[in-house]
Amino acid sequence: MDATPPDAKPPAAPSRQPPSKAPPKAPVELLPILIAPHKTLKARARPVVTADASAVRDLVARMFATMYAAPGIGLAAPQVGALLRLFVVDLMPGEKPQPMVLINPEIVAASKETAIREEGCLSLPGQYAEVERPAHVVMRFEDATGARRQVEAEGLLSACLQHELDHLDGILFVDHLSALKRNMILRRLAKEMRQKDSKDP
Ligand SMILES: [Zn+2]
Repeated sequence: MDATPPDAKPPAAPSRQPPSKAPPKAPVELLPILIAPHKTLKARARPVVTADASAVRDLVARMFATMYAAPGIGLAAPQVGALLRLFVVDLMPGEKPQPMVLINPEIVAASKETAIREEGCLSLPGQYAEVERPAHVVMRFEDATGARRQVEAEGLLSACLQHELDHLDGILFVDHLSALKRNMILRRLAKEMRQKDSKDP
């Protein structure tokens, strides 16, 4: 998720990569982020299984690097072309990295009370809209070590977790808007991408 509205101060670039126990090595190669209306962004991702472990380790490292470089605060595997149920999040509280990996996430409780926040998405660069979602959620997931975990979220984290979970089911934030607003944003994005293409061949 890109949570930076156009009139807000952009977040400071992270000063370092997420903590890693691995010895220092060559920088992780960034992954290209798919842009709407790419068909992979509309597909449902499959659960991660034990056999995926080593591929997932590599994918997660590259997803974090790609998310921090964008910069964004959340990135789901389908956005980089991997139809697996996992996403990475880092809200950078106090501008300090706080990386989270959520594998096979599911919402186990959601409040009736809703909250409206302005959302953006790395797959719809430069586009923002207010989205209404449950204000509080409890999400169950597996972490990078395969341990079962649970997180209770409200505020920005709640919106971000729900936004990223949506990506695993082929849902974009614009799918929560009226058809009129959605089409307006998708048309504007298409036009801006064409203009960008013609500027840098
Ligand atoms: Zn997104």
